[in-house]
Amino acid sequence: MINREEMRSKPEWSDWKWQLRNRITTPEALAEWINLTDDERQAIQETQAHFRWQITPYYASLMDPDDPNCPIRKQVVPKMDEMSDDLPLDALDPLEELAHSPVKNVVHNYGDRVAFIVAAECAVYCRYCLRKRMVGDSEYAMNKAELQEGIDYIARTPQIRDVLLTGGDPLILSDSNIEWIISRLRAIPHVEIIRIGSRLPVLNPFRITDSLCEIISKYHPIWVNTHYNHIKELTPEAALACDKITRSGAPLGNQTVLLKGVNNSSEILRDLFNGLVKMRVRPYYLYQAQLIGGTKHFRTTIEEGKKIMNELRGSTSGFAIPTYVLDTPYGKVPLTPDGYVQRDGEFVEVKSYSGKHWKEHNPID
Ligand SMILES: *Cc1c(COP(=O)(O)O)cnc(C)c1O
Ligand code: SF4
Repeated sequence: MINREEMRSKPEWSDWKWQLRNRITTPEALAEWINLTDDERQAIQETQAHFRWQITPYYASLMDPDDPNCPIRKQVVPKMDEMSDDLPLDALDPLEELAHSPVKNVVHNYGDRVAFIVAAECAVYCRYCLRKRMVGDSEYAMNKAELQEGIDYIARTPQIRDVLLTGGDPLILSDSNIEWIISRLRAIPHVEIIRIGSRLPVLNPFRITDSLCEIISKYHPIWVNTHYNHIKELTPEAALACDKITRSGAPLGNQTVLLKGVNNSSEILRDLFNGLVKMRVRPYYLYQAQLIGGTKHFRTTIEEGKKIMNELRGSTSGFAIPTYVLDTPYGKVPLTPDGYVQRDGEFVEVKSYSGKHWKEHNPID
């Protein structure tokens, strides 16, 4: 088994390109980091035809070698549970993103903002991924001409004031390609803000280099959202990456997916959100896990999610609490309990996190 401390002390360890070049893609290579179970070995083979699989050495080093229920391991190592879903394993597009794409990889679902899928690749393939239908699929890769078509669409659509760069993972692109995209978007007068959504601060935090941060600082206002799901991911390397993004001037938010067996308890989420806030990362959304083939073992009920959100309200700072949302073809729907119970004549009845009711005088005009 690989000596984790020794690996971490090597100079190449903190080179983001080395991390990508040396990704784990075989059971033999993964067995160097963890004691693979028979279920995991079999699943690596059997899921191959449906969804790609690879892991950065950095992320593998966070796994518990002996515990198959380790929250890091569960997110990225295939399990036979993936094969026993009642949904089809391939080609699902639950948010009808294709129908909402006027040009390739530009999802225009809300009037004023678009999701622009600028890369189809990721550093690691998360087993619960919402965009399983496309991530890692060369059909969705974007060449320069296709990127230009997306930029042209945004340029001729004046109601778009907010462009979210997503994927795949936009930060898998080279600095020069990232700057090529961002500088062109910045030149469009009606594009007020550019957002970057990336899981690289989690999967390969060394990607947040000084030169990337310089690019970010040149084209403000840029907002960045990342995707931590568990406190075990909040390592010193991750904290440094987030600090660099914040110092580059981009407000940093976080999206978490509610995942059974990984983070479906208010204690685990409270620790994660408190840890993020300590790193000056604002928890933005908590996503209900989407109906995607091969992810049944990750799904909780919405009632469970609402209960967790209610418990969080009583146990941590307001800005450590994200909005719990369900994404639908009609947009994101907030599921966070709102406390409104009913109108009672001149009063409105509300309910606090602890279950206590209050009547507020609130006369109708
Ligand atoms: C989530 C999403 C956005 C951004 O939504 P916000 O609620 O503003 O963060 C934009 N477009 C699409 C298609 C999305 O799914
Ligand atoms: S990094 Fe994001 S887009 Fe890529 S596999 Fe993970 S969840 Fe999906």
